[in-house]
Amino acid sequence: MTVIERFLKYVTFDTQSDESTGVTPSTPKQMVFAKYLKTELEALGLEEISLDDNGYLFATLPANVDRDIPTIGFIAHMDTSPDMSGENVNPNIVRNYGGEDITLCKEEGIILSPKQFPELLDHVGEDLIVTDGRTLLGADDKAGIAEIIAAVAYLKEHPEIEHGKIRIGFNPDEEIGLGAHKFDVEKFGCKWAYTMDGGEVGELEFENFNAAAAKVHVKGRNVHPGYAKGKMINALLVANEFVGMLPENETPATTEGYEGFYHLIGMEGEVEQATVSYIIRDHDRQKFEARKIFMQKCAEKVNEKYGEGTVRVDIKDQYYNMRQQVEPLMHIIDIAFAAMQEAGVEPKVKAIRGGTDGAQLSFKGLPCPNIFAGGLNFHGRYEFVPIQSIEKAMNVIVKIAELTAKRY
Ligand SMILES: [Zn+2]
Repeated sequence: MTVIERFLKYVTFDTQSDESTGVTPSTPKQMVFAKYLKTELEALGLEEISLDDNGYLFATLPANVDRDIPTIGFIAHMDTSPDMSGENVNPNIVRNYGGEDITLCKEEGIILSPKQFPELLDHVGEDLIVTDGRTLLGADDKAGIAEIIAAVAYLKEHPEIEHGKIRIGFNPDEEIGLGAHKFDVEKFGCKWAYTMDGGEVGELEFENFNAAAAKVHVKGRNVHPGYAKGKMINALLVANEFVGMLPENETPATTEGYEGFYHLIGMEGEVEQATVSYIIRDHDRQKFEARKIFMQKCAEKVNEKYGEGTVRVDIKDQYYNMRQQVEPLMHIIDIAFAAMQEAGVEPKVKAIRGGTDGAQLSFKGLPCPNIFAGGLNFHGRYEFVPIQSIEKAMNVIVKIAELTAKRY
């Protein structure tokens, strides 16, 4: 099977995850896919294959040399986003793309156009795998799974390429933020690993946001509006005042690159009480801590005006920037960088404006930068992946295995 044949097979499995179920994997259909993948890994003759009750599938390609080479891992996630159906995915291939509009679905008039998605034009002359306009594609992250398995199969067929022990790991529930939390890092047993879960060709990421969630609770005092002068405290108006105290140019819509933000994600309430929800994001740990303190200061100011206990801010850290875990081991970035260059891919190092499984794994003791899987427009019907990008990602994995062995 070629890497593309594998990919086209994998997207036929519906593996949508679901935030609401509270179990792991969050949907049984992910386990169906995991069991299928297990049979493929067995057929390939891999070793130490294990699938646990939570749907984490691990396997080993043993070293083919005696030297003491560190064990490294490659990781991808099996689930697809809850944002869009992944049922009956019916991909089409546009050969030798010429830069034109692509009709995904004639009946519903759904068109993938470089006018809305200019990144299409970076792939003129390539072969694009697209959806039929009714579902997402699932290149996020089944492209990653196909690339990893195909790379391991390639290494098996090419014993002249020296490599150490390679572990592969497929996990459920990344799209609902729970891909890493039941990942048994000790059992995986790697010095470091790479998630194959980035987008555009060349992406190499080892920085992500520090992240927290804040809930602002506002207590009001309700009185008959006809007799309320000097007595009523309207929680909704106080909440509004609080929102107005945060810098208006530090929101997702006004920031990019390394700029952090406060993101208002919910407001609800009545006169008596109100709740305002935020997420706080910043790559820089100090600035991140300062943002949390600033919110508490805003609450103090409101309380000075309306009385102690009017506003309470509860802040919970969600995840941290993996840079601090990866930085002491910069050779793992250097190897990925060199592997891309040898595979004819120009590395594009950039900071993720979000989180990854890799960030959580890094803090669990498995440093884990993220590498491109090749797909674009994730989580919706406009998702597509160039065949050439999948092939390049597969070659990068082979090169990483090779270059790691060469260093030791
Ligand atoms: Zn993904």
